[in-house]
Amino acid sequence: MPRAENPRPDGPQTVRTLDIARCHAGETMHFLALSERIQGLLTHWPKDRSMYCYGESCKLCKANAEVFWKGYLAAKVYQPIDRTWRHAVVELTEYAESIMRANYAPGQVWELKRSVKVKKSDRPPVIPKLLEERPIERVPVWDILPVLRTFYHCRELQLGVPNPREAPVIMAVDHDAPPKISGSEPQGEAPPTPEQRAKVKGQLQEFMMRFGTLPIGNGATEHGATAKGKGE
Ligand SMILES: [Zn+2]
Repeated sequence: MPRAENPRPDGPQTVRTLDIARCHAGETMHFLALSERIQGLLTHWPKDRSMYCYGESCKLCKANAEVFWKGYLAAKVYQPIDRTWRHAVVELTEYAESIMRANYAPGQVWELKRSVKVKKSDRPPVIPKLLEERPIERVPVWDILPVLRTFYHCRELQLGVPNPREAPVIMAVDHDAPPKISGSEPQGEAPPTPEQRAKVKGQLQEFMMRFGTLPIGNGATEHGATAKGKGE
């Protein structure tokens, strides 16, 4: 356990106060999961800051403020700037946890990615991707609760609220024959060949290089996901 007891503030910078690690718009982060499971709580987002939801006695709930679930886990977050792994409490959105839920285990290295905002009001979804699984010692890790209680300025803060968002249902795409519609040719075109795809991609990249944006009407999205809503 790389925990320093009462480190001196003027000591070497090899110890750090534990903090919350979030994936902001336009960022990519990588972390090694340590917690046995992801735990959650409910929050509100008044005036651009996250506030803990106190449940039945919550004033913000009584004012009909929107509720967002947040998930947390102990992790080591990779710092590319000095190639270190720093202990932190990783925060997950409802969407990210719903994707990770079925496969999550400690020892996994995950990538979180969030595309840039186009408008100020945009809340692009956090897209999780499992990169690898590392053998780690399954020992009890440090407690995330004190970190969260400090972060939310709330001594009574409790975890254990399940994510209200269902896991997405994922189905493969079929390539069956198109429907036979009388008096007309079969609908749809043959899918593009890999060469055609590469050609279009090259043209789009060239366009991006020249104009710094995609052609209007292209319809391309970075992740193919367009989830909406503040909590995403
Ligand atoms: Zn509330």
